[in-house]
Amino acid sequence: MISLKKGAAKSTADEASASAAETTGGKKPLWGPKSAWAQLTERTRLIIQIVFLIFSPQTFSLAFNGVKQLFAALGQLDAFDANSFLILLVLLLAFTVVFGRFFCGYICAFGAIGDILYKIVDLPLRKLNVKRPRLPQRVEDMLRCLKYVVLLFFLVTSFIGLSSIVSVYSPWTAFGRLLALNISDLNVVGLALLVIIAIGMICKERFFCEFLCPLGAIFSLLPVLSKSRMRRHLPTCDNCGTCERSCPVAIMPQGEDLRMGECIACDRCESRCPHDCIGMCSAEELNARMEAAVANAEAGKPVRNQGPDDVVKRSHTKRAIILAVAVFVVLWLLKAINYLPTFW
Ligand code: SF4
Ligand code: SF4
Ligand code: SF4
Repeated sequence: MISLKKGAAKSTADEASASAAETTGGKKPLWGPKSAWAQLTERTRLIIQIVFLIFSPQTFSLAFNGVKQLFAALGQLDAFDANSFLILLVLLLAFTVVFGRFFCGYICAFGAIGDILYKIVDLPLRKLNVKRPRLPQRVEDMLRCLKYVVLLFFLVTSFIGLSSIVSVYSPWTAFGRLLALNISDLNVVGLALLVIIAIGMICKERFFCEFLCPLGAIFSLLPVLSKSRMRRHLPTCDNCGTCERSCPVAIMPQGEDLRMGECIACDRCESRCPHDCIGMCSAEELNARMEAAVANAEAGKPVRNQGPDDVVKRSHTKRAIILAVAVFVVLWLLKAINYLPTFW
């Protein structure tokens, strides 16, 4: 039985690191280069984001309209109409409870646009060696609460029947009109809010998702099951902080930490961790991965284990693909039976 006590795992990791560094001129991270499979799963995310941005940018609005309609019906003591908004919303909520916020990491067009804007500005900044300032953790935690205020605002306005007035000034309505090239119906307030959000997304990665998104506020309360949270294998983790620094929403995965509801399942921390000791899985699955990695190190084999046989990495990619296909099928079915509103 291989020991995963901190010292044992670390010394094996250090030996593996030293031999990896020797063979690569001392430049590579501790556990060697990323596997081709890990690189492929990163690209899969980008591909799914682009596909949804092009073919289904309205998914965010459809789901959020479900929330507003639910509260409007409650306010007017109406019976719930199981329409397309609610069907999609229920699918997303159920998936998030069980598997985590894959909608935010892979499907949502608003999140994808934010990622693209941030990356576009990142390129020249990197060339100029300019780093964006980081917010202190306390400020970040305080600002995260804002999205619950935004959510409350929308719930109350829907409940008292003002939802249609509010949506005239909404940045999402402006976003939809812009995508549909319907410039003449653009509202100035909605457009101004959209520009402010875009500037925020450029300055701080996932600014809108982390601080302001009302749908994100709901999603952040849902990933409660063990496998829906990123967790670290603490005996192997050396607290290097790479995961937190690379995280778009600035969290260091703990598994049981309340902040884990903020995780958007982008999987970047897992891809960048030098010890592979982090993943969206149960504690048992992570232990099994680490035992396999240490056994590899002891046998002189490549240590990094993010290949197709790694259950943690494989299940992350599988979840994203399953959600993407499920959302597409639901939208396609709703369209086929003329159940999808055409408000774009
Ligand atoms: S937090 Fe909101 S805007 Fe961001 S990806 Fe999730 S649903 Fe989309
Ligand atoms: S990246 Fe995170 S999980 Fe990995 S070793 Fe560093 S602190 Fe630990
Ligand atoms: S980097 Fe890790 S912890 Fe941060 S949002 Fe992505 S998957 Fe979640």
